[in-house]
Amino acid sequence: MPLEIVRNDITKMKVDAIVNAANRSLLGGGGVDGAIHRAAGAGLLAECRTLGGCKTGEAKITGGYNLPAKHVIHTVGPIYEDGKHGEKALLESCYRKSLTLAKEQGCETVAFPLISSGVYGYPKDQALKVAIDVISGFLLEHEMTVYIVIFDKAAYRISEKLFTDIAEYIDDNYVNEHTDYRRESIRMRAPRQASIGSFEADFCECKEMSVEDDLDIRIKQIDESFSQMLLRKIDEKGITDAQCYKKANIDRKLFSKIRSDIHYKPSKPTAIAFAISLELSLEETEDMLRKAGFALSRSNKFDIIIEYFISRGNYNIFEINEALFAFDQSLLGA
Ligand code: ADP
Repeated sequence: MPLEIVRNDITKMKVDAIVNAANRSLLGGGGVDGAIHRAAGAGLLAECRTLGGCKTGEAKITGGYNLPAKHVIHTVGPIYEDGKHGEKALLESCYRKSLTLAKEQGCETVAFPLISSGVYGYPKDQALKVAIDVISGFLLEHEMTVYIVIFDKAAYRISEKLFTDIAEYIDDNYVNEHTDYRRESIRMRAPRQASIGSFEADFCECKEMSVEDDLDIRIKQIDESFSQMLLRKIDEKGITDAQCYKKANIDRKLFSKIRSDIHYKPSKPTAIAFAISLELSLEETEDMLRKAGFALSRSNKFDIIIEYFISRGNYNIFEINEALFAFDQSLLGA
């Protein structure tokens, strides 16, 4: 998955480069900076001394010494005052410059802490949003796997409003696995209403198509595999393969595998990631999932959160992943 949010200690990440939220002296400090210097050993400090410091919003690279990471990219985040002193632009610059430097050094995997969100006081939810926006923008243009490493869960929260909203939606929609009668009635009702509605809609659009032709197409679609449906939808939406898998946060190799094997069975999060990237309706999402042998269930928080976003027409996979993360669910993507 090109962008992953993980909970970990960044000094333990086995990646090509970890990013350090340093201060302008680059001579070590508290927080993540202190942890990185302790784990890397004295060699890191010695190299940092040769760099002559670093300006806010800029980035410099060193070796990783005793760390499992090959390099450390030191960037200096802004100190948050009130959000009106160019903090956001500087924070964006930290991510952009670090990613560019990583790319220039041939790094394929990079891990970031939430820069400025500790002692420097940047509100964590906004700091995370900046991280996600800049990294996902960068990944549209470059092949790389990037991790955002969240250290302490207690300190991490999506916005209070979104969290409460989703929590309420889960409460309203959660169907206890044992109340079979209700699930059964939803199951019995929903597909029929949905398919009649969509048949009428499609029928109106295709007045010139004979009933035989239309049925023929529908029968072919029943036999369609997941991979075939995916490729058909990509064509129908008029987007390129790359636009689709990048928006789905799926890496190119996995996409090629799915493309070349019509019987490929993806995992459920992967199938959903494609549905999100193609901005499918709930009904189409269900259809695509069925082809991979899955269904959305009302007795599963993960599924209800997905439904929450699709039913609101919010197809931003990174926001969805933030919400899944906040509710301790597995994330979308490969
Ligand atoms: P800043 O001065 O840029 O705010 P801090 O080190 O104080 O930097 O905090 C930045 C973020 O790094 C905070 O969200 C903090 O929780 C997190 N953090 C601290 N130690 C680690 C660690 N070992 N691994 C990953 N993240 C960490």
